[in-house]
Amino acid sequence: MTHRPHAITPEVLRADAMLTPDGAIADAELEFDETGTILYAGPARSTSRVTRELCGHVLMPGLVNGHTHSAMTLQRGVSDDEGFMPWLAAVQAIEQHLTHDDVAAGLELALLEMIETGTTAFADMYVWDEALIERVREAGMRAMIAPASFTRETVGFPGVTGATGEEVTEATERLAARYADDPQIRIAFGPHAPYTCEPEFLRDIAERSLRTGIPVHTHVSESLAETTDVEARFGATPGAHLDALGIVNDRLLAAHCVHLTAGEITRFGEAGAAVSHNPVSNLKLGNGVAPFLELREAGARLTLGTDSVASNNSLDLFEEIKTATILHRGVRHDAAALRAADVLHVATRGGAEAIGFPASGALTAGANADVIALDVTGTHATPFSGAAALVSHLGFAARGTDVRHVYVGGRHLYADGEHLTLDASAVRARARSAAERVRREAGSL
Ligand SMILES: [Zn+2]
Repeated sequence: MTHRPHAITPEVLRADAMLTPDGAIADAELEFDETGTILYAGPARSTSRVTRELCGHVLMPGLVNGHTHSAMTLQRGVSDDEGFMPWLAAVQAIEQHLTHDDVAAGLELALLEMIETGTTAFADMYVWDEALIERVREAGMRAMIAPASFTRETVGFPGVTGATGEEVTEATERLAARYADDPQIRIAFGPHAPYTCEPEFLRDIAERSLRTGIPVHTHVSESLAETTDVEARFGATPGAHLDALGIVNDRLLAAHCVHLTAGEITRFGEAGAAVSHNPVSNLKLGNGVAPFLELREAGARLTLGTDSVASNNSLDLFEEIKTATILHRGVRHDAAALRAADVLHVATRGGAEAIGFPASGALTAGANADVIALDVTGTHATPFSGAAALVSHLGFAARGTDVRHVYVGGRHLYADGEHLTLDASAVRARARSAAERVRREAGSL
């Protein structure tokens, strides 16, 4: 399927500092062309060509959210103080009442929040179809989309689709063919988890992934309850169980991996699997701390995610960046165990590669112009001492609300705090009324 490309106005941006693969540079310039490709990223050249002076701003690559369920923004604040399994039951009780319009409303609220906090690409698993994917394309973001599938009857989206797991798998292959050449969209299989999908179903997906190259996005070892359940039913821990079924390879995006065994960590690393680390969600649900450093040492490809708003409760990746850095320093009793620069890499280039957009995530000539500008004149950024302070600021003090401009492939989505592709107040109003109705019907208001 060919889509008409969005019109892009070439620009030359100038800012106080910029984060590049070679480090931070002062008085920086970034130029991209009408195809949304970066032509130049480096020290400022002549000022006469500059189309946008961003005094008091810094530039960095757009952030990549490696694991979320966008439409669950409607469930912000649901079951805040319960453990994983009661929380999941509360979430699924609400999902029984969702309509397609509700999912669209929740998705658009998520797109709004991701764009205005500097996220330009995300990996999602939820109920998806072409109409919903088109909303992502129109909003201008990039996404790796995994239509969620289950074989247990207790879960699903009966108000949106009556499709069985097998039917979702078939539909996923059709979507992958339809969007094969789309620069914004990647399609993945989305078997929900080893405790909601029977082994034969997972084996079939592994075989289809091998045959077609379509990646697999699934949850792995998120809670102790899951590992106990999977071990009791199948005689192996979740990572080993999935490995035996052919799921663990370099096409896998595994969310969480909190309770992987030492052997599973080694295996995920050797296999070149991508792992999405979701520290805020894991901490909020009391699930534990994922072996992020061990996975890195084993060679796993790493990405950072928020998980859904129902377990976070925001989509602001700057919170994940700071939390991940300080969490693993604390676990290792070593402030040198993880540098902010390394986590910023995971949240940009590493994440982009892990979810299928290797031409994004870095401000360098030839890459996609997925770039965000943050204001550094606010109280919590003061004093900002320029390029030398850039990594420190982005890693420990910046907030999503500092983001003032967002470009994806050169397309301007957010300009000086205003959305250019979404009607923000209408999106918020639709989400408020959808959430109110669904929660009332589910009896959880
Ligand atoms: Zn999840």
